[in-house]
Amino acid sequence: MPIHTNKSLALLGGSPVRTQPWPKWPRANQGTEKLLLDVLHSGRWAISGMYNGEDLYEKRFAAAFAQFHGVSYCVPVVNGSAAITMALEALGVGFGDEVLVPGITWVACASAVLRVGGVPVLVDVDENTLCMSAHAARAALTQNTKAILLVHLYCSFADLDAFSALSKETDIPIIEDCSQAHGAIWDGRRVGSYGKIAVFSMQDTKVLTSGEGGAAITNDQGLYEVMQQLRADGRIYRRTPINNQNELEEIGSVQGRNMCLSEFQSAILFDRLQYLDQENSIRRKNADHLNSRLKEIGGVQQIAVPQKGEAVTYYQYCGKVDLGQFGDIDIHTLCNAMTCELGIVFEPIDNPLNNNILYNPLLAKRVVPDQFIRSKINPKIYSLPNAVNASRLHFTFPHKGLLGDEADVECIVQAFEKIKANKVLLNEFKKSKQ
Ligand SMILES: *Cc1c(COP(=O)(O)O)cnc(C)c1O
Repeated sequence: MPIHTNKSLALLGGSPVRTQPWPKWPRANQGTEKLLLDVLHSGRWAISGMYNGEDLYEKRFAAAFAQFHGVSYCVPVVNGSAAITMALEALGVGFGDEVLVPGITWVACASAVLRVGGVPVLVDVDENTLCMSAHAARAALTQNTKAILLVHLYCSFADLDAFSALSKETDIPIIEDCSQAHGAIWDGRRVGSYGKIAVFSMQDTKVLTSGEGGAAITNDQGLYEVMQQLRADGRIYRRTPINNQNELEEIGSVQGRNMCLSEFQSAILFDRLQYLDQENSIRRKNADHLNSRLKEIGGVQQIAVPQKGEAVTYYQYCGKVDLGQFGDIDIHTLCNAMTCELGIVFEPIDNPLNNNILYNPLLAKRVVPDQFIRSKINPKIYSLPNAVNASRLHFTFPHKGLLGDEADVECIVQAFEKIKANKVLLNEFKKSKQ
């Protein structure tokens, strides 16, 4: 095992544990290239282009993605945010309607609710999984609650048993946001097959990506047809397309807009989907190794995964730190120190949405004029003690850190060890900054 000869921390000018590059993300190979060229020369780059006798990659990806989840339908869209707004609109969520949103998540979950005129009701998280607490969700329900946006965050699961029961009891639909959990399995089934609708982002950092991209899946044929229209200006696929004519038929029974995924993006997703399970299991294997090594060191552990979470997807590895064992430094300093040692970005988790620079609902012109709604969208009225506490103790690093082999994992372990061994130094550094 390589031992760091220079004991001084990289943060303080010493030599880092690792200078080698990490596995590259996103990934592509000759198969991906072939499909992209196929689109390039096909004479059709969008689903709204004229039918040319060929099956669209968009349709092929949709069919494969639905099948992958064991559900009936999939509607691909331009990004995850669009998938959320489309799902909300399909479920009839509109002006003044409340949607439960977890206190810790990417800001798009809340801003998508605002975009349809709804009120994002921020709900505190479970202190162990960092996903929405079912207990807090129940307490947040009102007569105006129209949907629950349930997010599987980082490398854990929301409690699908508790939320499925809550949904059944109250008849409030769940939109499962699986943007950080493509391919994860809960109790024998893929996440995304539990909600009334599930949404996905295929943005660059996600474990299935086309740079930008998204999708919604469902078993409900009615919702499927509405979502098709919502994302294509009120049009749906013709049953029998005609050569050189538009494959989309004008229906117009809802107000749609254009959120269609291009053929280039669809081709990439269609190709990369076949590697998803395999890449997820590599990340899982490396994470398992990391977890057992971290146990030996002490003071760092992965966030909790509920028992029924059978196959974890590591979008980001999220760990909890006992900062007392690291010289009482704050989480930002620890993350900086790790980033300097490893050359892969360690970050504190997303700031809770009641105190997040990216979440500014009072600036959303569409909803702000209404005084009553104005009072309900103000993030400061939401108390999120678990979320706030968690944000001081947790870090993440991106999944490419787990896409290599055990030697990569050992680097991460060494960095933690090195920082721990230098905790006195770090503590002095922290004080000198104050
Ligand atoms: C990435 C992400 C989104 C937003 O997706 P975009 O494709 O960036 O619009 C929504 N929800 C969650 C949980 C995400 O991680």
